[in-house]
Amino acid sequence: MEISKSKKLFSHAQNFIPGGVNSPVRAFRAVGGEPLFIKKAEGAYLFDEDGNEFIELINSWGPMILGHNHPKIKAAVLEAMETGTSFGAPSAKEVDIAELIVSMVPSVEKVRMVNSGTEATMSAIRVARGYTGRDKFIKLEGHYHGHGDSFLIAAGSGAMTMGDPDSPGVTKGTAKDTLVAPYNDLEAVEKLVAANKGEIAALILEPVPGNMGLCLPKEGYLKGLREICTREGMVLIFDEVMTGFRLAKGGAQELYGVIPDMTTLGKIIGGGMPVGAYGGKKEIMDFVSPAGPVYQAGTLSGNPIAMAAGLAMLTHLNEHPEEYARLNHIGELISEGILNINKELGLNYTVNRLGSMCSMFFTDHEVYDFETAKTSDTGLFGKYFQAMLKRGVYLAPSQFESLFLSTALTDEIIEKILDAHRESMKEIHK
Ligand SMILES: *Cc1c(COP(=O)(O)O)cnc(C)c1O
Repeated sequence: MEISKSKKLFSHAQNFIPGGVNSPVRAFRAVGGEPLFIKKAEGAYLFDEDGNEFIELINSWGPMILGHNHPKIKAAVLEAMETGTSFGAPSAKEVDIAELIVSMVPSVEKVRMVNSGTEATMSAIRVARGYTGRDKFIKLEGHYHGHGDSFLIAAGSGAMTMGDPDSPGVTKGTAKDTLVAPYNDLEAVEKLVAANKGEIAALILEPVPGNMGLCLPKEGYLKGLREICTREGMVLIFDEVMTGFRLAKGGAQELYGVIPDMTTLGKIIGGGMPVGAYGGKKEIMDFVSPAGPVYQAGTLSGNPIAMAAGLAMLTHLNEHPEEYARLNHIGELISEGILNINKELGLNYTVNRLGSMCSMFFTDHEVYDFETAKTSDTGLFGKYFQAMLKRGVYLAPSQFESLFLSTALTDEIIEKILDAHRESMKEIHK
């Protein structure tokens, strides 16, 4: 594989951009080697500057659930371009997308659009604090909620991969209001609640975390959190930036039948444009300015091009629920295929999957939280990543990420992925 153009660009980029990238995990630090610079993407494929092609299993970390450059989204963006790129005033598509989100996501009665998942979670916590009049909140170990100061504590993938979970620049004053409990452990949450009686505004979590590799909630866990929050007057926030519109039309909350008070959304919601959103019960969302006293704003929020892309994406998913059956089928073919090949090779690695999200951990330990995820052999993952890349399959460059599958993966492409998996596993276990 020739990567001279990517190499040249990366070396040049480092003169002008910190680490040569605009988001840390792109730099391949966790897997070794240098990042590929991508020139274009189409359907199930990425094409780099050197003309190599790769089967896409990350899909821009989730948004491209229908594959790249989907005709409906492309058409919507091109049409919106004809009438201007930003108004800084309300427009009709903002109302359409809000109405559609409210109809799709069970917990959302009102919604505010922002420009990223980070903005969505930061704003949701502010609103929950304003609504309850309390300062503290609980987050869970290994869960990622973007790079807002108060979330950069035990924050999963990016931070974990960099070996620097608590970032310099986050003050002790900020960190002291963030309480941390392990995932899948109701008892630990009960203890925090008892020790901080009446002081906790919210509990935020990824209901199905993908940022320490994919972990699944234990039976009754989400329901247990719901009960604690209701009892204690705490706002339960599901961060569905990854799982929203992916695990089901209405996200993990629909799948598990547990309805939070607030939900944060991102990734798929923008069809590849920079969009996020937060929403929830009317009585909470009416605390948001200008309806209420909690300030939150954005010059480019509800941008017409971004709304057009998001609306095309969500409309398609809403009108084609069969896409979820197809995504689940694709996930099953890949995870079962991987497990069968591993068995054939005498290897026993844990594979977690739900719908179109899937992680293979290089450990034989069951993985259900941050501690068990850490039993993985990350060095071996790095070798696997490189072996797959060499064979034309583009994985997330970290053990602690999920695959994000798209509907563009045909049976024939899945065969190619599994062949690459077999050869890669043989190579790294020689
Ligand atoms: C990606 C992600 C975020 C942050 O979204 P950005 O758009 O990268 O700011 C927040 N929460 C979860 C669960 C995510 O996966």
